[in-house]
Amino acid sequence: MSHQQLYPVTQAALARTYLTNEQYLQMYQQSIKEPEQFWAEHGRRLDWITPYTKVKDSSFELGNVHVNWFSDGTLNASYNCLDRHLPAKANQVAYFWEGDEPGVQKAVTYQELYDEVCQLANGMRSLGVGKGDKVTIYLPMIPQAAVALLACARIGAVHSVVFAGFSPDALGSRIVDCDSKLVITADQALRGARTTALKDNTDLALGHLGAANPVKHVIVVKHVGQNIDEHAGRDVWYHDLLAAQPKHCEPEPMNAEDPLFILYTSGSTGKPKGVLHTTGGYMVWASMTHQYVFDYQDGDVYWCAADVGWVTGHTYIVYGPLANGATSVMFEGVPTYPNVKRIAQIVDKYQVNVLYTAPTAIRALMAHGTAAVEGANLSSLHLLGSVGEPINPEAWHWYHEQVGKGQCPIVDTWWQTETGGALITPLPGATALKPGSATRPFFGVIPAIVDNEGNLLDGTCEGNLVLLDSWPGMMRTVFGDHDRFEQTYFSTYKGMYFTGDGAKRDEDGYYWLTGRVDDVLNVSGHRLGTAEIESCLVAHEAIAEAAVVGYPHDLKGQGIYVFIAPRVGVEPSDDLTKAVKEWVRREISPIASPDLIQWAPGLPKTRSGKIMRRILRKIAANEHDSLGDISTLADPSVVEHLIENRLNK
Ligand code: ATP
Ligand code: MG
Repeated sequence: MSHQQLYPVTQAALARTYLTNEQYLQMYQQSIKEPEQFWAEHGRRLDWITPYTKVKDSSFELGNVHVNWFSDGTLNASYNCLDRHLPAKANQVAYFWEGDEPGVQKAVTYQELYDEVCQLANGMRSLGVGKGDKVTIYLPMIPQAAVALLACARIGAVHSVVFAGFSPDALGSRIVDCDSKLVITADQALRGARTTALKDNTDLALGHLGAANPVKHVIVVKHVGQNIDEHAGRDVWYHDLLAAQPKHCEPEPMNAEDPLFILYTSGSTGKPKGVLHTTGGYMVWASMTHQYVFDYQDGDVYWCAADVGWVTGHTYIVYGPLANGATSVMFEGVPTYPNVKRIAQIVDKYQVNVLYTAPTAIRALMAHGTAAVEGANLSSLHLLGSVGEPINPEAWHWYHEQVGKGQCPIVDTWWQTETGGALITPLPGATALKPGSATRPFFGVIPAIVDNEGNLLDGTCEGNLVLLDSWPGMMRTVFGDHDRFEQTYFSTYKGMYFTGDGAKRDEDGYYWLTGRVDDVLNVSGHRLGTAEIESCLVAHEAIAEAAVVGYPHDLKGQGIYVFIAPRVGVEPSDDLTKAVKEWVRREISPIASPDLIQWAPGLPKTRSGKIMRRILRKIAANEHDSLGDISTLADPSVVEHLIENRLNK
């Protein structure tokens, strides 16, 4: 992998960057040798009510795991995202909101955002919600989603965002888990012209909870204009609540270690965990990574095409960009509605400079050849980003050439809900790129690779990715279950945070994510990562997406079972199946050649677009009766189709 093409830093990136390679290397060394001094300095990028005198206090030792940063400082996250920008940027656009339907749009300035956040914050206080209370947010991608997060932060309430595509039961279990007093939702959500009845779902969720329902009030945004069942005394319209409220609200002083939010992980590997982030360290991390990873400069138009229901939306649609006074695009819809050109059209329309999206979206567009980018002017783009899964080199090249026209560096950012923000990532003016590699650590991050016994490996190596010390943005605990936090992340390898991901390190010290370690295959004694085989498969001209899992095999221990979604217009056949096996055999090795290939119209994904290999593993092993938690699955019908047509009966 390391022998692949190197893309040096471009002159254009160098001309505008905050950090050259020399500066990155120097700052990185300082950040790990003198973390106290480094973070004492960079923590001051925020406005503090009471400045901190303490910087770092953390331990990864099992039984005593704790993480504290800036712990005697006080601040308010919404103040840092809004108030401090008003003197210079009141009339600057914070969000260009683009509705699901082309032509539906709205620009929100910093002043307007501030006013509405204050009104909602006051409204929430009038409902008896205050510091430390939990608020569940179940909203589509509309400006009120950002308003709701910030209004919680303003009064010290802890938000728990539940993705608007989730079912009533998934919503209900998250409400109960964190004991929410309040739900903020909308009548309906609109995505790709399909509606989801959010308020009805909320009613159902709370109804099912019965006596366990902790919710006292439901605030409802009138978005689509649908009638709702109003529960007197409990429900209140957002616009009615705000109408009476002043456009000023004192921000609650929060300790740096007071919780900012709880967010449940995607559930790719099992039951979602309630990841808890606190205020000071998270905000430092969100704003600093947003600035340096995207080289964000005043005047740039930045678009993170994630959903606010995921951590990417929290950090890189709301807290990071707003802390930096940025102008963002916020998009309600999906990349393929009304057609595959939508992303390119939005880039063109708002003259977007930075586009940050996920490999799943890139592969979906790529399946249509170049149709997705035809007819749009994409020359405003100067930087592209990727997050969520390893980006297959084939998808990287398509993104680089078709979207970036060969001119834009791609920042492949590796991180997790747990990490708060990007940890391993290129910096556009500092890092030469290798397609498929997340490259090098951000400041203060000490990645390492260990073998299965936990021995640290040196130099070029492959194994389990761990992190050796805390960084300001990391999670503090699993909400309500500190023991699960310790067991999940710190018990596998003593004194280290275990990411659950596998990685290689090459001779330049670059990291290559090889997939989840739970997904690693052991074929005739050879360990094979899923990422490499899948990348090889999607490089085949007939293949749009592929997922690789192991299944019990008498001779090899594990056989290789491949699920493939063909590109648009491709008809699967026995000859094609044979050709694909031959392709993998030639491109990687005979050991990696698939034993079984099942063609399918689609693969099972989490609603954030990640392939759920644990479900495919069950189907491949003919154990589809016990699929485990599928509440975060995007489209159950995909699974039924796969089970029906499974090959290992
Ligand atoms: P769960 O923890 O509930 O199983 P999840 O891990 O999918 O769900 P997230 O926190 O949303 O939940 O995803 C983080 C994971 O996504 C990482 O651990 C990694 O496996 C993958 N990932 C994210 N970005 C990248 C990237 N740039 N390259 C490779 N893998 C990535
Ligand atoms: Mg995870």
